[in-house]
Amino acid sequence: RGLKMYFPIHTGLLRRHTGDVKAVDDVSFDILEGETLGLVGESGCGKSTCGRAVLRLYDITAGSIRLEGREIGQLSQEALRPLRPRMQMVFQDPQASLNPRMTVASIIGEPLVEHTSMSRAERLERIWELMDAVGLNRDFANRYPHEFSGGQRQRIGIARALALNPKFIVCDEPIAALDVSIQAQVVNLLEDLQEQLGLTYLFISHDLSMVRHIADRVAVMYLGRIVELAPRDDLYAEPLHPYAKALLSAVPEPDPKIARAARRIILKGDVPSPANPPKGCNFSTRCPRVMEICRRIDPALTEVAPGRQVACHLYTDASESAEETAPERG
Ligand code: SF4
Ligand code: MG
Repeated sequence: RGLKMYFPIHTGLLRRHTGDVKAVDDVSFDILEGETLGLVGESGCGKSTCGRAVLRLYDITAGSIRLEGREIGQLSQEALRPLRPRMQMVFQDPQASLNPRMTVASIIGEPLVEHTSMSRAERLERIWELMDAVGLNRDFANRYPHEFSGGQRQRIGIARALALNPKFIVCDEPIAALDVSIQAQVVNLLEDLQEQLGLTYLFISHDLSMVRHIADRVAVMYLGRIVELAPRDDLYAEPLHPYAKALLSAVPEPDPKIARAARRIILKGDVPSPANPPKGCNFSTRCPRVMEICRRIDPALTEVAPGRQVACHLYTDASESAEETAPERG
């Protein structure tokens, strides 16, 4: 609730604090047990930062984070330690996230060393179990990451994330670095594991087709804010927020029966700097539907239909009265 993650900007020789990059700026959402919440948006919109903040890999600027009912937003890293096994992360680039000097067995077993008192033999047994679960041959346990393909390396990363029996996993662009031919395999693996182990995912991706495949609900981020959050099918059938409309207009529609009337919407202008977001609605500098009220008042994320939340004045009463009084801008 009200999650903020600001990174201070220091400038000049004296490194004076001159502002903040508002990477995540007052974001609220729930992730329900057993579901996959997709988090989409263009690169730089704050989705990775949001995922890391939720896991408390950062000391957050403000807000409340609850894991299984327990408030973790302000806990110290030390106090978080016993909770770490419950929440894990799968990273984008398996190459970069695996220590090249460690064998597969020691990579997967590392969290077991850190967080459990398992004996060597117990650990090896668990490592094999995990390798089986992600479809890696046990014979590879003593090999090094560079001996594997990208897809296999991501399986190693997933096995490591599963080592401590987590409930919640943030998958940050888990397939973005993989060959297209491998992507579906890894996504299918994540889905199978979710079902078998009762996992809950926050699935961060800019690949809207993949998110459509895997997510139950989807949150759309723009410039540090969630602008729309909806059940997957509702969002893909008819996005409501003007930014979500534009973003999704680029996704090919696989079902010819749902010929989407809208053609591709090309947005003008650049994404403003998160160090200096626009007044009012963050999207107001690029929105094709911008109204006078949008430049003054920041629209709150509001439920507009059961389970559908949108942050846009087009869907609030405020816009109606404002539109009557404010002439449209030419
Ligand atoms: Fe566009 Fe206004 Fe809605 Fe923002 S609030 S998305 S500027 S119509
Ligand atoms: Mg990112």
